Amino acid sequence: MERARPCGQTLGNLTRVFFIFGWGWKATHLATTQLTCPRCGNHVAHPVQKQVLKISLFFVPLIPLKTKYTVTCTACGVTREVSPAAVGVH
Ligand SMILES: [Zn+2]
Repeated sequence: MERARPCGQTLGNLTRVFFIFGWGWKATHLATTQLTCPRCGNHVAHPVQKQVLKISLFFVPLIPLKTKYTVTCTACGVTREVSPAAVGVH
């Protein structure tokens, strides 16, 4: 039976190195466009956001893993993923 190991590496007798890592989405507002919402049917403003999933080390985002573009309906609040070309951003 294997025992659980601490999340770190032993270097010598006294030094232990620990890494704190995580991941999270970071959103950036790119533009606002007028679209017809497929849920509520209103033709209203939709903020376009670029969202990037990043791995962070010691709470500093470092490595981007995935990028997606989303629009949010200001009438009903639904958020959906779109292609960058569909909303005119690259
Ligand atoms: Zn809507």
